[in-house]
Amino acid sequence: MTATNSFLPPEPVVVQPRQRPVIAIDGPAGAGKSTLAAHLARTFGFLNLETGAMYRALALKAIENDYGFDEEESLLDLAAKTRIKLEPQHEGNCVTLDGMDVSRRIRDKDVTSGASQISVHPRLRAWMVDEQRALGQAGGVVMEGRDIGTAVFPDAEVKIFLDAAPEVRGNRRYQQNPGTPGQSNVTESALVEEMRERDARDRNRIESPLKPASDAVILDSTNLSLEQVLAAAEEIVRQHLPTPK
Ligand code: C5P
Repeated sequence: MTATNSFLPPEPVVVQPRQRPVIAIDGPAGAGKSTLAAHLARTFGFLNLETGAMYRALALKAIENDYGFDEEESLLDLAAKTRIKLEPQHEGNCVTLDGMDVSRRIRDKDVTSGASQISVHPRLRAWMVDEQRALGQAGGVVMEGRDIGTAVFPDAEVKIFLDAAPEVRGNRRYQQNPGTPGQSNVTESALVEEMRERDARDRNRIESPLKPASDAVILDSTNLSLEQVLAAAEEIVRQHLPTPK
């Protein structure tokens, strides 16, 4: 048995208060989170961080290295050897994987499906959550994903859960198709089906399933134009921030 200094008082844990707020945007695929997050970041002078891009980048690395999406232990080892960087830009993030720009490649169908499959693993999620907390710890960020308001920043100053009917989300994605890499030959019904599959996996996983935080404002954009969604979200942020910019 190893001797321990168990009689010594524990070191005090110093938790630094955040200097600036966190805006958490969660919701299902295709709800328009990225567009909204980029808009709010520009409006309020914050950084926008797409956490889904981190799951996508790791899924890409798994594909490139022939790892199975169900091998949690190996994926964790892979994650520890991987450098994923999110560089906030005017629209969305530039994503680098071990120094390579993978911003377009990670939107391809195989990576999209892989990201959804690896995201069910609890220990992998814990690794991602730690990384994401470190990225956002100073505040002044709009962080977008599935579990920001529930797991990454449960104390976020603003939480928006952006939702829309599956057909509407599928249709919007379909309209964006020409600009969506890897999806140029996809039919609208195939896109809706792919989204339903991802949603079901996200909502039914055991660890941090997709659901609104109890204190999130739910914004259903099914019958709203983009302008209406952006205006409604701005209003929510202004109501929740102590000193709006
Ligand atoms: O948001 P995006 O569609 O890029 O996310 C890709 C996948 O990563 C999602 O389908 C989801 O399974 C997973 N994800 C997650 N938690 C997050 C962000 C994304 O589980 N915070």
